[in-house]
Amino acid sequence: MPTTTGTPSTLYGATRDELATAVNNVVGDVPRYRVDQLWTGLYDQLRPIEEISTLPAAMRVQLADHFPTELRAVTESASDGGDTVKFLWEIDGGARIETVLMVYRDRATVCVSSQAGCAMACGFCATGQAGFTRHLSTGEIVEQIVVAARRARAANTRVSNVVFMGMGEPMANLDAVWASVERIHGDLGLSARHITISTVGLIPGIRTLAQRPLPVNLAVSLHAANDAARDELVPINRRYPIDDLLEACAEYLDATHRRVSFEWALIDGVNDRDQDAAELAELCHRLRPRGHVNLIPLNPTPGYATRGTPPAGVERFRAALEQRKVNVTVRRNRGTDIDAACGQLAAGQPVRVQ
Ligand code: SAH
Repeated sequence: MPTTTGTPSTLYGATRDELATAVNNVVGDVPRYRVDQLWTGLYDQLRPIEEISTLPAAMRVQLADHFPTELRAVTESASDGGDTVKFLWEIDGGARIETVLMVYRDRATVCVSSQAGCAMACGFCATGQAGFTRHLSTGEIVEQIVVAARRARAANTRVSNVVFMGMGEPMANLDAVWASVERIHGDLGLSARHITISTVGLIPGIRTLAQRPLPVNLAVSLHAANDAARDELVPINRRYPIDDLLEACAEYLDATHRRVSFEWALIDGVNDRDQDAAELAELCHRLRPRGHVNLIPLNPTPGYATRGTPPAGVERFRAALEQRKVNVTVRRNRGTDIDAACGQLAAGQPVRVQ
């Protein structure tokens, strides 16, 4: 069943059949192999239509006219010696979104946005501070990955991982996100285990995802391990409290046999005490396999005064979890100087100051 949302005739939003129909409408009756050439050009060769040289020049012009790209480049910034690139795009309606490409020694990760802005209102996150503008379509999501993959290829590497950790709450736009997952998996050739969907903890979304046939990784932005604290940090917790969230995670594990990771932005004096580690460890132990923790010191954002935990405190927290037999990764921070790190994506939009 096709799950593509948005306008089916957008270039990267259309399924192969939808694209064939659109091509026939635009160019006239074309043999099927022309659609195959277009598809191969788009997803294997990662070319813009104008450069798909297997197609006749006149056809390329017609198609490029009909299928304008949906992301209009505004700026691009680089950090980490060029290994982290942040793309700022304008989309239809004038909203702006960002995509981050992180190149490592032998692979590259794309951090993709699923919405312009975000309605979840986590106070420590720049996207949350800016509020919600609109959902992204499947084509707008896929195009972010194609452009990043093109860039990775130019740097002699390939995109190996896609993480839905850019702007927005993917579970609030799950149809478009899922259609893009199918494209990433089926046409861009990434296995489900290299795709991660991150959520504030929208339980209905987690349950829906558990029923989908591709077992992607689930990341839950936990940040606090008791309801009183989490209600403050991640307001949606008031609707979907921790015990229910853990139950949904357990169902996800049963259905997919993947692992769940908990994201934990360490905030100085707020969630970095030994007692926080003890509570978090208890939650991790409720899951089989045990929940994995990704730690990251809070990145600065304009609307949140409290700072990230200094390195010694991060190390202490990591040790406190390990001592309790929890697997922990301290995430390397990329792109803080270009506001490309976790929680810093605001696409140049004014940020509400508290
Ligand atoms: N809305 C989804 C997808 C965004 S992922 C989600 O919340 O999971 C972005 C990740 O960065 C989330 O784990 C988020 O909680 C985290 N984050 C937000 N603000 C941050 C900050 N200032 N420093 C570090 N991490 C932050």
